Amino acid sequence: MSKQHEEYLLIIEQHYDKNQLNKLRIPQLKRAIKHMTSYADTCTDCREQLVATEEHLHTLVKEIDQTEKQDLKVHVAFVNHIVKHLEKEHKLVTEGYYMSIFMSIGMSIGLVLGLTLLDNIALGLPIGMSIGLAVGIGLDADAAKKGKQI
Ligand SMILES: [Zn+2]
Repeated sequence: MSKQHEEYLLIIEQHYDKNQLNKLRIPQLKRAIKHMTSYADTCTDCREQLVATEEHLHTLVKEIDQTEKQDLKVHVAFVNHIVKHLEKEHKLVTEGYYMSIFMSIGMSIGLVLGLTLLDNIALGLPIGMSIGLAVGIGLDADAAKKGKQI
């Protein structure tokens, strides 16, 4: 993360409240910048994205008092583009990635168990869901610990 990134992010963080910052995906963008910085030596895309991010943040800061000018869709698309690259090329995962995957796997298994073995969907679904949730949360925590989370 460059001095310029930090400066822009600080201005943005001081201007918006927590909800707005989450809507702008600033916490995620911040993590993404840190990851890209660590890959910048070996990955041209990350290097170019860091420059693009600086320009992007500059625009956000410049138009910070003209909310009508800001296009949330364009901004979110920008963050998504970076996140996709980090997922695809650097095998990182987003926050809550495993939780959502394992929760739906758990629900499908729970549904099948509920329909067959347990003969009770109302029982199978929550059992499958809670097991999936527990596994997913564990894997998310593990990814965070290993610094693999965006
Ligand atoms: Zn990269």
